[in-house]
Amino acid sequence: MTNEELWQTALGEIELSISKANFITWFKNTAVLSIKDGHVVVGVPNGFAKEWLENKYDLYILRALKNIQEDIKSVSCLISSGSPQNFPKISQEPTVDAIQAPKKTTSFFEKKAPISQESNLNHRYTFENFVIGGSNELARAACFAVSQSLGNVYNPLFIYGGVGLGKTHLIQSIGNEALRLNPKIRVKYISSERFTSDLIDSIKNQKIKEFKEYYQKIDLLIIDDIQFISGKEKTQEEFFHIFNYLYQLNKQIVLSSDRAPKAIQILEERLRSRFEGGMIADVSKPDLETRLAILKRKVAQDGVEITEDALEFIATNIKNNIRELEGALNRVSVSAQLTKKSVDSAYTKQILSDIISSGKKKGITHKHIIKVVSDFYEIDPSDLIAKNRKQEVVKPRQIAMFLMRSELSYSYPGIGDKLGGRDHTTAIHAYEKISEALKIDEKLTEELATIKDLLYTI
Ligand code: ADP
Ligand code: MG
Repeated sequence: MTNEELWQTALGEIELSISKANFITWFKNTAVLSIKDGHVVVGVPNGFAKEWLENKYDLYILRALKNIQEDIKSVSCLISSGSPQNFPKISQEPTVDAIQAPKKTTSFFEKKAPISQESNLNHRYTFENFVIGGSNELARAACFAVSQSLGNVYNPLFIYGGVGLGKTHLIQSIGNEALRLNPKIRVKYISSERFTSDLIDSIKNQKIKEFKEYYQKIDLLIIDDIQFISGKEKTQEEFFHIFNYLYQLNKQIVLSSDRAPKAIQILEERLRSRFEGGMIADVSKPDLETRLAILKRKVAQDGVEITEDALEFIATNIKNNIRELEGALNRVSVSAQLTKKSVDSAYTKQILSDIISSGKKKGITHKHIIKVVSDFYEIDPSDLIAKNRKQEVVKPRQIAMFLMRSELSYSYPGIGDKLGGRDHTTAIHAYEKISEALKIDEKLTEELATIKDLLYTI
């Protein structure tokens, strides 16, 4: 396997575990530069990407690479000036960029994600490809109505819901449909993280005027995962100006978030009341029927051969999230291709056993939890157990307690016991505190998802 093949395969896996917007923002124009003694060096286009990949996505990258090549032990990033820059900078005219873009037909992004340079929309996200069910029909109807008459029905349109439930798909469908109806309009899809980093760049390069002008020319502005701008004052300020400007001109604004506008912490009051002035619709977890319909649609689209039983098995067992549902189907069909087996429910069960079975069934114990949590937070396992109230160990300890309860169903006295003979009330407090925090704290939710992933893949 060449470095390029290795990286493309790893990207395929990473793409399944993080949001599309983040994937595109942080992983485009990356490549494996070298592999030596189990250490992989990934080339990235700039310092921003280096920081994010090393701090936020390092575990995802390592896990994806390890799944392909077991002897890989560590990863680091290197800014490599040779990386192709084939995405438009906001301060440049897209056409200029398009001419300059290197013709690198093997790029993962060109192969797998047909993304328009100007609008940044992925053509795969259309209303036709979107399966309607009780969990998403209101959001879908609102998005469709907006696409038919920009600026006139619901403005802004705010779509919220948990990870992997189709928000990005829906809001991008608005852009694709609106462009289909009128190819002359200017549409821009961007994640709020990307918006923030572009804004910071433009301030740094004294291009803030161009930045604003660029956005003020947009007819349909779609900002994904807006929750990330909460607490970032400067970004909120600029966003608010752009927002107001477009709003007054009757231009359409569409936003998505993983939580309702009320729940976005420290989001400036004026911004929040504007969100609530438009239309708010949520997407929730799909029911069994919808999950099955989504799988069937995908099977038909990709020409996967799989029995009805096997599809039902996947739909019954993967309940939380459509991205996981698609990931499970991919995993089964890829292994079937590799081993040249036909896919029935027994085979599917075998391949997906590690995702589906609970911690208890997998033989995970409190020791695994202590190890994974302390590795993740880079603290000594003995610190979790010791009587130590240092802030940097308090949170990991509470997370360990939470996981012993949620994954292993340990009793509270049992949990206190495993963590240095603490009182059961401490364990109850930890469980409740983390449960509450998960409702509002995006970062914690991501951390916990990563920790669980590690727990089940080790
Ligand atoms: P979110 O933005 O809410 O995290 P995405 O829009 O990225 O979720 O959806 C995750 C994956 O599931 C995407 O590949 C998307 O195409 C697919 N998907 C989500 N909902 C549906 C649906 N109702 N019909 C078909 N595919 C869907
Ligand atoms: Mg999304």
